Amino acid sequence: MYIELILLLIINSFTFKYENNSYPIDNKAIEKFSYFKLTSFQPALNFDISIDSTFQRYTIKYQNKNITLINNNPWIKIGNEFVNSPLAPQVVDKNLYIPFPVLNELCKYFLDKTVSIAGNYIILYGEEGRHIKRIIIDAGHGGKDPGAVGYAGLQEKMVTLDVAKMVAEKLSSENGIDCILTREIDTFISLGKRAKIANDVEASLFLSIHCNAGKRRSATGAEIYFLSPAKTTWARAVEARENASLQYENKEERSELQSILWDLAQTEFLKESNTLAGKLVDGISKSNNIINRGVLQANFCVLRKVYMPACLVEIEFISNPEIEKKMRTDEFKSKIATDIANGVKEFKQWYEMKVNN
Ligand SMILES: [Zn+2]
Repeated sequence: MYIELILLLIINSFTFKYENNSYPIDNKAIEKFSYFKLTSFQPALNFDISIDSTFQRYTIKYQNKNITLINNNPWIKIGNEFVNSPLAPQVVDKNLYIPFPVLNELCKYFLDKTVSIAGNYIILYGEEGRHIKRIIIDAGHGGKDPGAVGYAGLQEKMVTLDVAKMVAEKLSSENGIDCILTREIDTFISLGKRAKIANDVEASLFLSIHCNAGKRRSATGAEIYFLSPAKTTWARAVEARENASLQYENKEERSELQSILWDLAQTEFLKESNTLAGKLVDGISKSNNIINRGVLQANFCVLRKVYMPACLVEIEFISNPEIEKKMRTDEFKSKIATDIANGVKEFKQWYEMKVNN
């Protein structure tokens, strides 16, 4: 796992998640490894750096702890001890860049937390107890996969992205929940990768957001799904449509997914997922923004490999021209996001009461 983490593919932008805030981190590829600009972490961690330019020696002070790094030297001084890092810090354009192993040592010593990278995120782990602190919000579809398309041309992938961002904003600003999006822009991400992001960051909840489509133009309302073999013809139809994203994935991604037999990753969390679905439906019913069509069960690829309670929300019918018009407004999307956030809050209360008593 360690090797896997340092052999990062080069990603253009990273976000450091710290105490429910997000900090952009400058990075560079040096010899195919990702290096992070040390000063990019200062706004989050508030450390001091003193530089001895003669020896290109950087001393980082955090509270009463010191770490010393030297350009191009794999030995790093942590407190009074020396640790050998597989990769050395590097100065580029007068800025010190640190590779993943050095960043990890820094977080271990300063914060008593280890660091991990999931997608574009740099995440910290520590002892957090069994609380719902980090959730994954998955905006359905994206990039070459538009999802369902309305009569006037609105694409599902755009609506799901807006709603996912709004849910994340509401939960993190009002409730201090660390929200991670599987995508923040209009880009294609395979269903397997979405699940991997969720598992990598050890989230306690996975929420996939979609728009429904039906043959009847008048169809309306929200449906919440959790994983299990589809029970009704309608649930099977929705399942087939959402799983059709697989056609956009390359063979490698697809065979990986197909080789995953029904491994029942989710059975362990069926009760939680079912309760989460119920709370989401409650959130929607109470506000009366949209019609509640209830909880359904289906076999969604995106939920199958996720090792945590998970639900898929079909917020409304993009195939209904009236709804499609509304879906273009922030007001409508924001109301739905509030309903979903309320459902998550209710679930959090229920879950924490259950596991901590
Ligand atoms: Zn969808």
